[in-house]
Amino acid sequence: RIITSYNQDGDNINVVVRVRPLSKKEIKSVDNNVVQFPGNGQILITDVPGGSGGGLKTKLFSYNVVFEPAATQEDVLQYSGMKRLIEMAVEGFRCTCFCYGQTGSGKTHTLTGPPGLFGLKKTPYSDAHGLVFRSFMYLFQKLQEQPDKHFILKASYLEIYNEKVIDLLNPGSARKPLAVRWSKKARGFFVENLFTVDCEELDDLIAVLEEGLRNRSVGRHNMNEYSSRSHTILTVHITSEQPAENGVFISRTGKINFVDLAGSEMTKKTQSEGKTLEEANNINKSLMVLGYCISSLSDTKKKICHIPYRDSKLTKLLADSLAGNGVTLMIACISPAKSNLCETLNTLRYAARAK
Ligand code: ADP
Ligand code: MG
Repeated sequence: RIITSYNQDGDNINVVVRVRPLSKKEIKSVDNNVVQFPGNGQILITDVPGGSGGGLKTKLFSYNVVFEPAATQEDVLQYSGMKRLIEMAVEGFRCTCFCYGQTGSGKTHTLTGPPGLFGLKKTPYSDAHGLVFRSFMYLFQKLQEQPDKHFILKASYLEIYNEKVIDLLNPGSARKPLAVRWSKKARGFFVENLFTVDCEELDDLIAVLEEGLRNRSVGRHNMNEYSSRSHTILTVHITSEQPAENGVFISRTGKINFVDLAGSEMTKKTQSEGKTLEEANNINKSLMVLGYCISSLSDTKKKICHIPYRDSKLTKLLADSLAGNGVTLMIACISPAKSNLCETLNTLRYAARAK
């Protein structure tokens, strides 16, 4: 049993947890496993300080779906609710899938797969490919099932680093960050002058993913440092046109965002100095605001009068899929190692709040 789930119904937010395997390094240094799986979408954390008599206790959490370390990349597509998100985006809804968790917990692995997967040559299909690649395949499968409609796909890929928006498809913009504006026509916030690529075929979408990943790592001395401080958003806009009576066309536009968030450990590192402080504050703010947004989304009865979408670029750009008739999938990624216990608990609490 590697996947357990509980009550996966038609909510507008679905929270799943993926636990990565212990790394070779963790096994070698006898960094013990503190995560157990009682079933029914539950996770039991052992070795938690604060038990009676200064001892250790356990803590139990529950989610829509839990992926144990043996779960495959394909399992994540099949059982996370991602397929429903894609189907809804095709129907015209605005959808977001984001990975949350500390650096090293498996966010990028889950979304795009291990580094170096995409070469300059044609990409062969492999077990390692992540959720984005698999979603693209599923999307095209869905489109082909509706030959009566005409579909137009456009994709963009951006990065938010220290509240600056950088176009990953047009890296020249790194010198001049792009502005986020609001427009009535766009029905929300949008990035001015962001490159959007028309994608007629599956390969076009895959090329967008590859190009963005390549540009993301170019000229970065310490990619790990950098990726732990930046958010990336890959967006696919899906417009369908269907002939109706009297030569009239019904047109609908949905979209799907794939978001690889900054490391959640950054939210507390506000004690650091100089530039780091500025960055940590920004990351802190965007992840905190995102937390407010999703917890209000998860419970419409909760009286959160004002959701501060405007407080960060990240939440501005996700606002339309977090509010209104948007649908969101949160994948919380955690490490099973005892050395990460504290961050693991933080991630599980954040995710539980969203459920
Ligand atoms: P993050 O993006 O959250 O910082 P990564 O996705 O880079 O974390 O993962 C950290 C390391 O763990 C990488 O070497 C990655 O290949 C490995 N890893 C993460 N999740 C898994 C998994 N489910 N199975 C195997 N290896 C994984
Ligand atoms: Mg990463």
